[in-house]
Order: sequence, then structure tokens, then C-alpha cells
Amino acid sequence: MAVRFVIVGGGPAGNTAATYAARLGAEVTLIERDIVGGAAHLWDCIPSKAMIATGGAMSMTRRAQTMGLDKLEAHLDFDSLRDRIAGISTHLRTGVTQLLASQGVRVIQGRGRLVGPHRVVAETTDGIEELDADAVLLATGSRPRVPDWCVPDGERILTTRDAYPPPELPEHLVVVGSGVTGVEFVHMFSSFGSGVTLIVSRQQVLPQKDAEVAAALEDDFLRRGVRLFKGARAEGVERDGDLVTVRCDDGRTARGSHVLLCIGSIPNSEELGLEAAGVDVDSGGYIPINHHCQSTVRHIYAAGDLSGKLPLSSVASMQGRKIAEHVMGLHTREHRHLDYDKAASAIFTEPEIADVGLAEADAFASGRKIRVTKVPFSASAKALIDGDPRGFVKIISDPYTGQVLGGSIVGRNAAELISVIALAVTANLKVTDIVESLLVHPALAEALADAAE
Ligand SMILES: Cc1cc2nc3c(=O)[nH]c(=O)nc-3n(C[C@H](O)[C@H](O)[C@H](O)COP(=O)(O)OP(=O)(O)OC[C@H]3O[C@@H](n4cnc5c(N)ncnc54)[C@H](O)[C@@H]3O)c2cc1C
Repeated sequence: MAVRFVIVGGGPAGNTAATYAARLGAEVTLIERDIVGGAAHLWDCIPSKAMIATGGAMSMTRRAQTMGLDKLEAHLDFDSLRDRIAGISTHLRTGVTQLLASQGVRVIQGRGRLVGPHRVVAETTDGIEELDADAVLLATGSRPRVPDWCVPDGERILTTRDAYPPPELPEHLVVVGSGVTGVEFVHMFSSFGSGVTLIVSRQQVLPQKDAEVAAALEDDFLRRGVRLFKGARAEGVERDGDLVTVRCDDGRTARGSHVLLCIGSIPNSEELGLEAAGVDVDSGGYIPINHHCQSTVRHIYAAGDLSGKLPLSSVASMQGRKIAEHVMGLHTREHRHLDYDKAASAIFTEPEIADVGLAEADAFASGRKIRVTKVPFSASAKALIDGDPRGFVKIISDPYTGQVLGGSIVGRNAAELISVIALAVTANLKVTDIVESLLVHPALAEALADAAE
């Protein structure tokens, strides 16, 4: 009899696991309460990057004269932008739906929860269906964290879910939180022409990132007139008509037309019947998992944001794939464990920021000897041709073996270029493998080879 695999949540983790497991011969049922594709398609990765792409096109027009063009002016049309985002999201969702159907995955539109270790209930508009399962995957994602000092109203006090796009273009947006999501929104709305204030609780934006990388971004923000409130924690938000005021713990106040909360997320684990199945959760509501993504109940897996690992769509998808292999018993042969330390990530600001593998600061903190080589894009012919020579490539390698351990890129197309270093890190390549690759000229990737020298 085929393995009965029930999945709750159809985001990147759930739908990837469903596709692979079905391909490997499982009988897969996927329960999704909203849309397959998940928050990633509806609110997070895709809408945010679509808006950033439009902001990027506007920035390009502002730089037109540096490219030998007459002055260009672009005006934002919110309705067209809204249609564009919906169009991209629908296109991607249709693709995922067709893929699932082509693999024979049964999709139930409804809410899923465990009622026992091997039994899942789907609540749909037609009633309740009980499903027996040999293996279960919980992949219900997360939602924006809302602090007790602020009540979002969806009009002027916004979470990230209200921002694609917001009801109107903010005249002045106050962004609370300077992690990856916060800085992407600062970039997006300042590209659209909104005034922006960013509340930064520490002394640098992107506190988890390399100081040099964060400094490059801060320079760009200041150049664009973004106000930075460093070392300030927001502790209250008030709305008075069209005006919002954010109070900070150091006595400062930031005023604007809108405020956007970007202070992290919380897992959707409350209504999953975890107790009924004996699955442990940690104090933050995440489901702890082992290296096979198994929860404390071994045939119940958790993945994506719910698992409390790196909250990235790419990581969620890869977990889904590894889980499918494990459920179908393939881990004993070709399976490689997922190494979260080798996940590439990007921040879609201007300049773009991307990194992978070992960070310089972590190497110094652990006393590990490393070789750091860095090349600025101002030395790249292609960056000059493209009219944007900001940023640099940094490669971190082992000084004795030449093995590539990590790297960061700040600059145009960093999110694409980091793939070369990510591949080198995953495949244990050496700097000479990059140096001796015959690359295209002129191309931004040449800076990678130069940095690897
Ligand atoms: C603003 C923003 C931008 C981001 N940009 C990027 C990016 O550029 N790149 C990147 O890699 N990551 C990005 N992320 C992170 C990324 O969106 C998440 O890591 C990813 O969506 C997690 O995938 P998931 O499968 O765990 O969950 P989700 O994508 O959240 O999917 C979970 C699904 O489960 C469903 N669900 C929940 N409860 C139930 C239930 N009881 N029954 C049935 N269905 C249920 C939900 O409806 C949802 O469809 C971004 C996040 C944010 C907030």
C-alpha cells in the first residue's frame, strides 16, 4: 500500500514536499486554508519583490541622464501596480496548482489539524473530513508579530500584510524595525518618492550582518534623505486623523502619514492539535525538529517558518524536498542533510546585498584563520557600463587549502551573483575553481573571479 502522507499548509515547504513525495509514489493529501503557494506568494516574497522591481524602474529613470538619455520622469500608478502584483501572484499560483494536479496530489481547501498521532482533520465549507496518515507534515508558516503597544488598522497603522500596496502612497512612512524586511520596505517606499523614517533599535541597521555591508546600505539611505533613529525602541503608536506618531523609549517621537511594523513574525502553531498528537513546541511556539525535520513524534514533520529555522522560502522548499525523500526512505542512499549554515540569502535593497556561508565576524569570533579578499565594483567594466559601480565582492576562504567558505556581495544583481559562491561553498570548491572559470566579458561575475584571486 502507498504511504499516506498528509500535509497541512501549501506554502513553499508544503507544496514542494507534496510534489516530490507524490513523484516518489506517496498518496499525498494537501490541506490549505487560503491559496497554494502560501504567504510567500500572497504577501511576502513575491509581492514585495514585485514592488521593489517597480521602485527600481523608477530609480533607473531618475538616473537616466547618467546613461546619456534626456531627463525621464516616471509617475507611480497604484492601480496598475496592484494589478501587476495580482497578475504575477496568480500566474505563479496557477503553476503550483497545475504541478500538484499533474503529480496526483489531492488538495483540500480547508483548515487542517491533528486529532491524534496518525489522524488529521480537514475542516472545509462542506463539513469535516478525517484522514488517516502514515506521515504528516506541518507547514503552516507564520504571521507578522504585533506588539501590545500598537493596534494596526490596515489604513495608516500597517503590518507587512497591508502593504502590497497600502491603500495609498504614504507621504511619510515610519518603518519600525531595521531587519531584512524593514530595510526592504525603506528602500521600496523611498524609491516610490515617499519620505521615510526608520526606527533602528541598535546602532546599525541589519544588526546581524557584516558591519561593512550595513554601512553601505546606511550610506544609501542617508543619500536618499531617509531619517535614521538609531538606538531607539518604539513603544507606542498613536493616530490622530491623517497623522501617526511613534513614541520611542529614548523620548524621541517620529511623525508621519503611515507607520509600518516590521518587527518579526510568530508561528502559526496554535490551532494544530499538537497536544492531541504529543508534538512538542518551544516557548516561542515553534516546533523543534531534528536534522530530518522530524518533530518529537517521528512520523510528524515540521518545516518552513513553523520549524523556527531560517525563515526563507528557499529553505522551506528544500526542507520540503528532504522530508519527501525521508518519508519515502530515500535518505539512506542519496540524501544529504540540509546545512542551514550554507543557505544563501539576499536583501533586495539598492545596492542589493547577498551573502552565504561563513561570515568574517563569526570567523574572528571563533578564532578560525581565514583569507578575506575583496574587490570593488568600481573596477568592473560592466558595472561602469551599467552606470552603477557601487559595492563590492568579498570572498572568504581557507588560507591553507583555498576552499571557499563564504562571501558577501553588495551591488547590482548581488542576489544572482551570490549563486556562484553558494555553489562553491556547497560543493567544497576552491578559489582556483572560480579564478580558472572562463567567464563572460564584460560581466559583473568577473568581479567574483578577481576577488577569488
Ligand atoms: C515581507 C516578507 C518578504 C519576504 N521575502 C522573502 C524573499 O524574498 N525570499 C525568501 O526566501 N523569503 C522571503 N520571506 C520569507 C518567506 O516568505 C517565508 O520564509 C516562507 O513563506 C515560509 O514558507 P512556509 O511554507 O513555511 O509558509 P507560508 O508561505 O507562510 O505558507 C503556509 C501556508 O499554510 C497555510 N495554513 C496555515 N494554517 C493552516 C491550517 N491550519 N490549515 C491549512 N492551511 C494552513 C497558510 O494559509 C499558508 O498558505 C519574506 C517574508 C516576509 C514577511
